[in-house]
Amino acid sequence: MRASPLPACLMTGMALALTALVGGLHVIGGTGPVYAVSERVLIGMVALAQLMMLAGWRQSARVVLSMALIPLTVTLLSYILPEYWVSLAAWDRWSRRLTQGLELDAWRPSLLLALSLTLLATACATRARIQLGGPLLMGITVLLLLSQLRFGVASTSTPHVLRYAAGPLEQLALWGLLGGQILAALPGWKARATIVHRALWPSLILVLLALLLWHQQKNFTERELNAQVRSEAQRLADRLTSEINEHQAAMSRFANVWSLFDQVPSQEAWSRQAALYHDDFRYFLNIAFIDRDSHIVHVHPQSNVNRGVIGTRLFDAQPAGRDAVRQALLEQQVGRTDVIELLQGVPGIIHYLPIPRDATHTLGAVAMVVSLPILAETLFNEVDTRRTALVLAEGEQVLASQVPTTPLGPWRFDTLLDVAGQPLRLGVQPDRASLLERHDRYPIASLSIGIALAYLLYLVLYAYGSLARQHRTLHASNAELHREIRTRTELQQEIEWLARHDELTQLPNRRLFLETLKAKGEARPLSILICDIDHFKRINDHYGHLVGDRYLNQLGELGRGVTEAHGGLFARYGGEEFVAYLPETTADQAFLIAETIRLRVKDADLHHHDGSVLTVSIGTVTLVTGPLELDALMQAADDALYRAKAQGRNRVMAAPELATSLS
Ligand code: GH3
Ligand code: MG
Ligand code: MG
Repeated sequence: MRASPLPACLMTGMALALTALVGGLHVIGGTGPVYAVSERVLIGMVALAQLMMLAGWRQSARVVLSMALIPLTVTLLSYILPEYWVSLAAWDRWSRRLTQGLELDAWRPSLLLALSLTLLATACATRARIQLGGPLLMGITVLLLLSQLRFGVASTSTPHVLRYAAGPLEQLALWGLLGGQILAALPGWKARATIVHRALWPSLILVLLALLLWHQQKNFTERELNAQVRSEAQRLADRLTSEINEHQAAMSRFANVWSLFDQVPSQEAWSRQAALYHDDFRYFLNIAFIDRDSHIVHVHPQSNVNRGVIGTRLFDAQPAGRDAVRQALLEQQVGRTDVIELLQGVPGIIHYLPIPRDATHTLGAVAMVVSLPILAETLFNEVDTRRTALVLAEGEQVLASQVPTTPLGPWRFDTLLDVAGQPLRLGVQPDRASLLERHDRYPIASLSIGIALAYLLYLVLYAYGSLARQHRTLHASNAELHREIRTRTELQQEIEWLARHDELTQLPNRRLFLETLKAKGEARPLSILICDIDHFKRINDHYGHLVGDRYLNQLGELGRGVTEAHGGLFARYGGEEFVAYLPETTADQAFLIAETIRLRVKDADLHHHDGSVLTVSIGTVTLVTGPLELDALMQAADDALYRAKAQGRNRVMAAPELATSLS
């Protein structure tokens, strides 16, 4: 976040206001889950920090962000770390200690909200800088918020064990935060749009793949857990059914024992035998012998209530069971009541089993009173009812139920049971904690790893892009530098050439001439000649300087040809004067060379305005021995030239040979 543009502040402010409003309504209403409160508080904190950051209060903003990031990190760890690393029980223990009794799942924000809020908080803390992955963090948040939208639609039809998505208003607040950050950061990103694009899209595709994979894995693990719990519920139902079958078989055995006797059993025999069955099947509230006229003759156990019913004629006393009694006594069939309110005040079923004497007559019947709550309890004892709610119901009427104190999970499994021809429903609903404990966390772990990898990919691609850009800039400035050096070298060479040459005739100038003489003038004899054009001023006066220049040029070319042919150096000395340096040249040879030049000029077809031929006068001098004394040498040549001019021009005059000595 560089600038603090108004739209960014407005969006963030909107998110903050929305959170405050929803939170306020929550407080006034005094209802709603704790996790929703913590979600709103955390959104509010991040929104506040974002506003502070936009206002330039970075230090305070970072303090608020750290305070929000601590619970967010704890939340994410609780979602990600495997159960065998940190168990849910351990999380709950710590949570209860820190929050005065709240379990983790009661307050922790929903997964995708925690994840997107963590990314938003991180982006805010780093001011969404490109080099720290700002654009990617925003991009991932967009994907997470979009997938929350999907959950919002789906969660009603298939309840999830984990809370994935936050409520619609919380989601809206998150969009507000995201919009605020993007608006503030966008101008900063635009400057490096190309690098950002190259780093962003591959990383976002990776995140998208991680999200899709997570979705798949999440659905798979949830389906698997659901099937597992469903089969446990089914096993419980099977267990109940087999228990019922067992007790029916036991009842038949019990009834058959008495048909071996030909008379009504004695109280003692009855009590002994009934006690055995009662010990095995606790849910037989009592076991009674009924005579052919439906009188209760014996009852076990012999409690006060039971003793009181002895002698009762069931045909009269219990209309609800009349059909069942008749079935046993008159039709020699097993008769059963519906689920009825028993004398003990609990719902139950009474079974009447005939004790046949022969094919048509009965001795009486055995009445077995089954208490459904005790039957259910016997079964429920096999399950950890602190973690699972169990309900045994007949239609809408709950016959027996055990409900744990902890919050129940979203899944309830109902199985229909045939309890002695009576359709009962067994409802099994595990609590949240037991489901969370068994809920696989590897899908979330793999999503987190995917996001982390995408972030690393972004950083690598971004660094690579920046380096490539720097490299290109460096390369360009390097080439520029090379060009500059080349130009400067050429210029330098030109300057150096100009310093030692005459621009008009391209001949060496006085400086190069003297330098050459000093550097190479050891050979003896050594001759010098000075050549001056005769009446040159007239050429300029009559033909103009341009023609004068052309004459100078031609003369220079001519002099160079002759001199270089003799291994010498021809130079322009100044104005229309030329000099020649002739190493190892005697005075006579020098004179001849000078003559050659003079004659060549004369024959060069260069004319004055009056038709007379252009001529030159030349003075020569030769140093035979001794060291080079430039001034004396030049002066002698000049004197000779002067004499040539004085004697009528167009001639060569030789100075006397020079022999210097070391003084
Ligand atoms: P003299 O026979 O006595 O040498 O007569 P002169 O006219 O040649 O006299 P002087 O040597 O004093 O004059 C030199 C003239 O050469 C003067 C100037 O106008 C001319 N001159 C010198 N340098 C240049 C040049 O580079 N180009 C042209 N066109 N003329 C030049
Ligand atoms: Mg002159
Ligand atoms: Mg002259």
